[in-house]
Amino acid sequence: MNLYSTNNKYLRVPFKEGVFSSLPQDKGLYMPENIPVLDPEFIRDLHLYSLPEIAFQVSRAMLNGAIPDADLQQIINEAINFEAPVVKISEQIHVLELFHGPSLAFKDFGARFMSRVMAYFLNEGEKELNILVATSGDTGGAVALGFLGVANTRVTILYPKGKVSAIQELQLTTNGQNIRALEIDGTFDDCQALVKRAFNDSELKDRFRLTSANSINISRLIPQTFYYFNAYAQLQRQGYTKVVFSVPSGNFGNIGAGMLAWKMGLPVQQFLAATNANDTVPSFLQTGVYQSKPSVQTWSNAMDVGDPSNWVRIMDLFDNNREELKKILTGYSYTDEQTLDAIRQVHADHGYIMCPHTAIGWMALKQWMNDHTTEDTAGVFLATAHPCKFPDIFSDEIAREIEIPAQVKDLEYKIRVVVSLGNDFESFKKYLLGRQ
Ligand SMILES: *Cc1c(COP(=O)(O)O)cnc(C)c1O
Repeated sequence: MNLYSTNNKYLRVPFKEGVFSSLPQDKGLYMPENIPVLDPEFIRDLHLYSLPEIAFQVSRAMLNGAIPDADLQQIINEAINFEAPVVKISEQIHVLELFHGPSLAFKDFGARFMSRVMAYFLNEGEKELNILVATSGDTGGAVALGFLGVANTRVTILYPKGKVSAIQELQLTTNGQNIRALEIDGTFDDCQALVKRAFNDSELKDRFRLTSANSINISRLIPQTFYYFNAYAQLQRQGYTKVVFSVPSGNFGNIGAGMLAWKMGLPVQQFLAATNANDTVPSFLQTGVYQSKPSVQTWSNAMDVGDPSNWVRIMDLFDNNREELKKILTGYSYTDEQTLDAIRQVHADHGYIMCPHTAIGWMALKQWMNDHTTEDTAGVFLATAHPCKFPDIFSDEIAREIEIPAQVKDLEYKIRVVVSLGNDFESFKKYLLGRQ
């Protein structure tokens, strides 16, 4: 499997190099040279396969020999070892629950697969891998747990001080071993900018083997296609053939993976890009003008992104043709107030508790289903995180009903270690150089 850059279609880089370097020199994003179209029989028979079986077939086609079958099988068995159930909420409306992994967010899929792919390529004696990851909340936890204890790796997590939830903060700061946490006095965009700058700093590049674990890494995109296929398989079992996916979106990695699955032959009727007030993409789809903005803070903080890093990938999938893109992608944006109302409404009407990100997906789906004839269509909104990660936003009545998974209860007894830094690059660089 070879990769090209969204800034240079003629570049050819092996998968392994793309995984370790994360970003091409030209600051584009890596894309697969060939997007395989899966056998229509396999798609028709998806309902016969389990999630790990689907994951193996899909990644095998995509990787095209970059990892031998037996090793790939082992990576899948270790990484994709939890469920992604489709749960019915009301007539035609379903939720795809992606929060059953160790960090209770969908990013476990990407992070667990990526860490094991890297471990596979990290032959003994290779230089230690330094993973820098900026997180608005969930990525850090998923990456930390994905890499925890993996030999020859060191993970540095940057998160915006005071802008992640208490549970998220515990997940980021209580790992120890090869994981360290930095709280940055700034926004998520500041964290992301620091990481990007580190990658372009020649002194740091000479000293360390730097890589990113953010959703821009191609090895995180691939495993996020698995659950779209697997959701379709579950809906087939209920007699559906038409599906609409509504995806709560921030950096657009999750929905980008869905669109990649569609390019691979998954029959999807429509994708809904559901955002909070950070509506750069919905307004682009409407006006044709892509205007990145500073991010605004909302209740759905993992989606507080003003310039989505994966957007160029989606444009690349459509050769930058907005008209073609609009045939399959619709954008919606919602306020915090609407989000809280949606949480109350779905709890009252259906007894289901959604995290604030998930609620935005639900609203977009309801709106699209109202505006279209959808008799035999299954509407699916993605639940990107477990509601217990955001306790502050729920009323006491709802909060009492949330079941806290065991892995979260244990965090309170662990020791928290974190270093505070400003948002200037020099302090960050000094910290990185000083610690080795
Ligand atoms: C990361 C995240 C999102 C946004 O996903 P993207 O791939 O960045 O669009 C949505 N919800 C939750 C809970 C997240 O952690």
